[in-house]
Amino acid sequence: MSFKIVKNTFTFLLSYSIFFCAPSYASDSLEKVSLQLSWKYQFEFAGFIMAKEKGFYKDAGLDVELLEYQNGLSIVSDVLSEKVDFGIHNANVVIENKKIIPTVLLASYFQQSPLVIVSQKSISTPKQLIGKTVMGSEEEFMSSSLALLFDHFYINNQNSTLVDHSFGIDDFINNKVDAMTAYTTNELYELERLNIDYNVIDPVSYGISMTAVNLFTSKAQLLAHPDRTRDFVSASNKGWQYAISHLDETLSIIKEHYAKDKSKDALEFEAKASIRLMLLDFFNIGETSRELSLRVVKQLKYSGLIAKDEELGPMLINEVLLAANNAAYFNERQLKYLNEKKVITMCIDPEWMPFESINNGKHIGITADVMALFNQQLPIPITLVPTKNWNESLLKAKQRECDIFSLAASTPERLAYMDFTAPYIDLPVVMATKMNVRFIDDIKKVKHQAIGVVKGYAIANQLRSQLPDINIVDVSSISEGLERVEKGELFGYIDNLMVISDAIQKEFTGELKVSSRLDEGVKLAIGTRNDQTQLHNIFQILINNLSPDDLQVIYNRWVANNIVEPELDYGILWKLLLMVLFLLIVYYLHVSRLKRINEQLHTLSVTDRLTGIYNRVKTDQLLIEKKADVDRYESDVAIILFDIDLFKGVNDKYGHLAGDSVLVDFAKILKYNIRATDFAGRWGGEEFIIICPNIDINEASQLAEKLLNKIRSHTFSEVGNLTASAGVSRLSKHESIQSTIRKSDQALYQSKENGRNQVSILS
Ligand code: GH3
Ligand code: MG
Ligand code: MG
Repeated sequence: MSFKIVKNTFTFLLSYSIFFCAPSYASDSLEKVSLQLSWKYQFEFAGFIMAKEKGFYKDAGLDVELLEYQNGLSIVSDVLSEKVDFGIHNANVVIENKKIIPTVLLASYFQQSPLVIVSQKSISTPKQLIGKTVMGSEEEFMSSSLALLFDHFYINNQNSTLVDHSFGIDDFINNKVDAMTAYTTNELYELERLNIDYNVIDPVSYGISMTAVNLFTSKAQLLAHPDRTRDFVSASNKGWQYAISHLDETLSIIKEHYAKDKSKDALEFEAKASIRLMLLDFFNIGETSRELSLRVVKQLKYSGLIAKDEELGPMLINEVLLAANNAAYFNERQLKYLNEKKVITMCIDPEWMPFESINNGKHIGITADVMALFNQQLPIPITLVPTKNWNESLLKAKQRECDIFSLAASTPERLAYMDFTAPYIDLPVVMATKMNVRFIDDIKKVKHQAIGVVKGYAIANQLRSQLPDINIVDVSSISEGLERVEKGELFGYIDNLMVISDAIQKEFTGELKVSSRLDEGVKLAIGTRNDQTQLHNIFQILINNLSPDDLQVIYNRWVANNIVEPELDYGILWKLLLMVLFLLIVYYLHVSRLKRINEQLHTLSVTDRLTGIYNRVKTDQLLIEKKADVDRYESDVAIILFDIDLFKGVNDKYGHLAGDSVLVDFAKILKYNIRATDFAGRWGGEEFIIICPNIDINEASQLAEKLLNKIRSHTFSEVGNLTASAGVSRLSKHESIQSTIRKSDQALYQSKENGRNQVSILS
């Protein structure tokens, strides 16, 4: 097994470095698909262009047509009507008439939107836009991050003049409009070049964030071609990877063959700004996140840009595929039951290879693979409840600690607390004895002998009633049973053919043999707790869908692989070597990326406009720096996330402006009560982050407590008393920044769950 894993890692590394040399296929065998771009050719679409130019699409069997944007196109309707196969959208969710239009989000390339407001020099805050003329597209005013910003500051077409975008900058230069929507990647370059004075109002500075260059398709397209869709996405990701790491080549290809009218300097500017927006230190190329979309949906609802009862349905590839499968398999009641249940607990026999066993806390064997198949079809996970032996599993099932048995026979005794599906494994039962015992054609002939069976096994009771002359002895496990046979304490041991031959091969070769076959086999099924009948139906459906072919593949995997060779594990050596190589590459990439990011960042403003503390861009940069310290010096750095409790209520009751002044006060409290070496930043909306170098997680938790206390005792003007919740975690050498942030976020969520106004730690 270990060899297999190493081999895969190796091929992965190898192909990673030479993927662009792959051969191309004849184009007549390629499938034609089209991608509708959301603008004219430019660096914004570099990944798709390079995937085409470098043959990544071809290698995936695809002939991709890249369609430049034309005025008046509706990309969403073209994708939904399958006029084109894929499209680009510049918000996390697709909105029309205050409704979420169900689409499938395949990849997000810009994790932060380039969309901002560019204003005349006299205007520097959103509030100052009121009463002015702002130029933008209808979609931008209706559902983008700017729409959220406008709503937040009460800018609308009653108190201001919102005019259609001319898609040029002349009206702005000639002072015909006071402000316009713009892309930081494009228009800023033009304005700089012409030496025009301007201000930028970026929603990100006000805690509003969306993704852009989102690759999407229709549900129908995905369901009809799931593999093709996945292939298209991975080839596009490869294209982006290539574009970023071969910037010069990419820029000249785009300049020569695609964007002939755009200057080289403009393209270079666009490329730099675009790569920055990909936030590569936090996200993989193309990474999608349901969380972020949910947050946006929340904000859209709050702003009334979508109806309050709109729900974000399945939207990522796997979610959509799963929902489609579920809809086919399970009825509504079953789905409702599952969704409420959240997790299915399972007991297994911890010593029953090749069927199942627990190895380092992990379920392995045939049933582990079967359950993995079921897990893909279930909307909720099946998790293992570890036990020491089968008897303990039986006990736990009786006590309702486990909902299912992965594999068990139905017996009258078990039917008192479990239901059983139709059997999915039917096995001959045999007896193992010492080598010197002659073959026994009928087990009944063995009289007055002691024969072992695992306590609680279905076959034990069956044998006791059928063969009253035989002394059936309880043993706790197969290994105990076979050992006692070997020592001569028992005449034989009865179990099914597979486990017995497996165990004999491994531990008793030349000492024990199979010397009798019983008439009856054991029929093994899935047991489900009988006080929740839905569970029985659900697993019966899963069993019905389990194809004999799949089962055969699983059998072969475990039955052919069961010989353990106790020799030096070269696999581990290889793994270590590759690890070192991999770490070196990661380190190198990290250092060069750090350098690049630092160069880009010093031009950006670092403070949050509203609260005056560090903004998201700056906190991201600090996190990268602190993580580098942690990696190098193994120092301690704790991360605390704060979220104001029930802040929506504050906005609702006292208005946004009062809400804003709470945020200003809140930031001040954080800023003035931390150590000089700590950093406070606005993470987004009403969420704040504190980065604390050189303190351990418990000290950080005390600091968080202290800050919560300050907040509790503060009287916020107009609003009065408020509380907040906090989540603490620490940066560690072996974990990405993102995963640390996720932990803090989970801890914060825990604080909210437990009643708010408290600190939780997740280390
Ligand atoms: P919870 O205790 O669960 O956190 O409840 P909550 O009401 O605080 O819920 P949630 O965190 O989801 O909502 C945050 C609200 O904060 C909604 C959003 O409109 C508002 N908000 C975000 N940014 C700003 C801002 O800059 N100013 C104001 N006034 N409100 C903001
Ligand atoms: Mg919040
Ligand atoms: Mg909140």
